[in-house]
Amino acid sequence: MAPTPKYEHYDAVFIGGGSGGVGGSRRAASYGKKIALIERSEHTGGTCVNVGCVPKKIMWHAADIADKIRHATDYQFLDVPEAKFNWKTFKPQRDAYIRRLNGIYDNNLERDGVDYYHGVATVISPTEVEVTQKDGSKLTFKTDKVIVTTGGRPTVPSDDKIPGASLGINSDGFFDLEDQPKRVGVVGAGYIAVELAGVLHTLGSEVHMFIRGQTVLRTFDSTIQETLTPWMEKTGIVFHKGHQVTKVEGAKGQPLTITTDKGDVVEVDCLLWAIGRHANTEGLGLEKLGVKLDEKGDVIVNDYQESGVKGIYALGDVSGRALLTPVAIAAGRRLSNRLFGPEKFKDDKLNYENIPTVVFSHPTIGTVGLTEKEAREKYGDAVKIYKSSFRPLYFSMLREEHKEPSVHKLVCVGPEERVVGIHIIGLGSDEIMQGFGVAVKMGATKADLDDTVAIHPTSAEGPDTRS
Ligand code: FAD
Ligand code: NDP
Repeated sequence: MAPTPKYEHYDAVFIGGGSGGVGGSRRAASYGKKIALIERSEHTGGTCVNVGCVPKKIMWHAADIADKIRHATDYQFLDVPEAKFNWKTFKPQRDAYIRRLNGIYDNNLERDGVDYYHGVATVISPTEVEVTQKDGSKLTFKTDKVIVTTGGRPTVPSDDKIPGASLGINSDGFFDLEDQPKRVGVVGAGYIAVELAGVLHTLGSEVHMFIRGQTVLRTFDSTIQETLTPWMEKTGIVFHKGHQVTKVEGAKGQPLTITTDKGDVVEVDCLLWAIGRHANTEGLGLEKLGVKLDEKGDVIVNDYQESGVKGIYALGDVSGRALLTPVAIAAGRRLSNRLFGPEKFKDDKLNYENIPTVVFSHPTIGTVGLTEKEAREKYGDAVKIYKSSFRPLYFSMLREEHKEPSVHKLVCVGPEERVVGIHIIGLGSDEIMQGFGVAVKMGATKADLDDTVAIHPTSAEGPDTRS
């Protein structure tokens, strides 16, 4: 542990070594500034690297391979073994990769000249951050700017609200599982619920989903909800629609009995809460300094990531807007460009409109821009929808039960048919979406998409709607 901060006075202290903190601090240091980064965990990289995007996508790849093994006999591969996944041996292999990534993150910070400290940070004033190190000793950092990038964590109901709720795990706990649970209950219908339920089911667990509504991904376009939900059911995930969990009985490491308000009683080996996330702002000392938090504890900031208290900024998940890694990185880099970069960046900020995003479901989903509902609320009758279902060639050789749906939907506006939203589900949607994101950002029209000669045969070309 460092006995004292390296500099008496820093240009900025970033609190939180996740996507936003690492992205922002490295960019700031690249301008020759004195920058400190404080991380309370021993592993750099935050949620994405340790308990988010990276280990999740690795698990998605494993599940995808299981699917492909199941498809192989239809492609006339001989003696294809059953898709039996060894979670016990895979987990340490996955963990080892994450530890390597942690090392790469540490090296990058060092190489770029960011002073990196471990400990729990508290903001004492807009120019002073106190860090409590593992051994209890304290360091005080003087700084011109405090940049809060403390991210968030999973929300789990209290035992007072739902007796036995704490017998369940959250997404962090999912990545700690040493072995694959045979029967799993997943509560929630958002990104994490859909992705982790999909992974578990595809790798062979029996999965029950407890959702408040009738579909998953209720904030997504209706076409996405209405395509994915029945497909997940068809593949064998058991849905308890319109159900709220009211109690959980059992003991840690033992089978658990889940009871819902509609009277369903289900026994599982693992219960996973995936009902959203909230900001890490407790104990940071922000409210005492006048920083405004919303009811979820997210820091309220303006378009320039300014908190309203001079010298204190917040970005990434802790600011509660578009909880995605590339958003946190981009917001961090742009803030550093604006604060410390050359004149051309004096107004730099992240535009939160038209951020493309993907759900790693089975099949995957890609989306950018307005949903049909949002577009109709904004533009009324000027909205025109183009929607098409098709079957990628890959599925032509597969038996019916393996033929995943593919639907592409364009939300267009006005006589010029400007594309304000694209929502796709089906094979390859995750990889396809980035390009469509560029098109929407550039203001593409339906005619522009039609004028672009298709790449054939791919899922990206969609059905033949071109002139
Ligand atoms: P974080 O990465 O959470 O970093 C915050 C850091 O601050 C943490 O390391 C924390 O330990 C530290 N910290 C907190 N308080 C203090 C303190 N007082 N002192 C010092 N340090 C502190 N996004 C995608 O774009 N694609 C995906 O596929 C994707 N998958 C996901 C899967 C899961 C299961 C989860 C949970 C999230 C996923 N996300 C994904 C979201 C993504 O991980 C987050 O949006 C991103 O990590 C946010 O970055 P951040 O820097 O704001 O916060
Ligand atoms: P989401 O906001 O995506 O979803 C929360 C879900 O929880 C909703 O389906 C909601 O249901 C449900 N819910 C909320 N409260 C309750 C309750 N009391 N009982 C039952 N269900 C409840 O949050 P996640 O935790 O899934 O993910 C957090 C964020 O992390 C995402 O928004 C996303 O930004 C990011 N992320 C990104 C990923 C990616 O890029 N691929 C992957 C994973 C996470 P209802 O539909 O009824 O409102």
